[in-house]
Amino acid sequence: MTTLKIALIAHDNLKDKMVTWAKRHRQLLAKHSLCATGTTGRRLQNEVDLKVKLFKSGPLGGDQQIGAQIAEGKISLVIFFWDPLSPHSHDVDVKALLRIAAVYDIPMACNHSTADLILKALGS
Ligand code: PGA
Repeated sequence: MTTLKIALIAHDNLKDKMVTWAKRHRQLLAKHSLCATGTTGRRLQNEVDLKVKLFKSGPLGGDQQIGAQIAEGKISLVIFFWDPLSPHSHDVDVKALLRIAAVYDIPMACNHSTADLILKALGS
């Protein structure tokens, strides 16, 4: 199986959901190379026991760092539990991340059900 480079991001209201989701898919996720924005990644390390490369927290530039990784061809999949119901100080960074993922045609799940669908497609 090819090792994918998966970026994981969850907005604050959805971090619990991301942790629960990652626990459910831990076996599959652990086979891939994971990176995440700071707070999301630390929770995945501490609560799911996954090896995760940490970027800065989203509001401090983490989304932009992941965007730069996409532009450099270093990300193959983005799982983004994006909260469409809350305002974010870094909305422009979020928009830039969505844009750059589209530019480079990177598969990107922006909600729970799409994330499930993609992992199902990856198999175990
Ligand atoms: P965080 O960043 O994982 O550091 O909270 C996510 C975001 O808000 O974009």
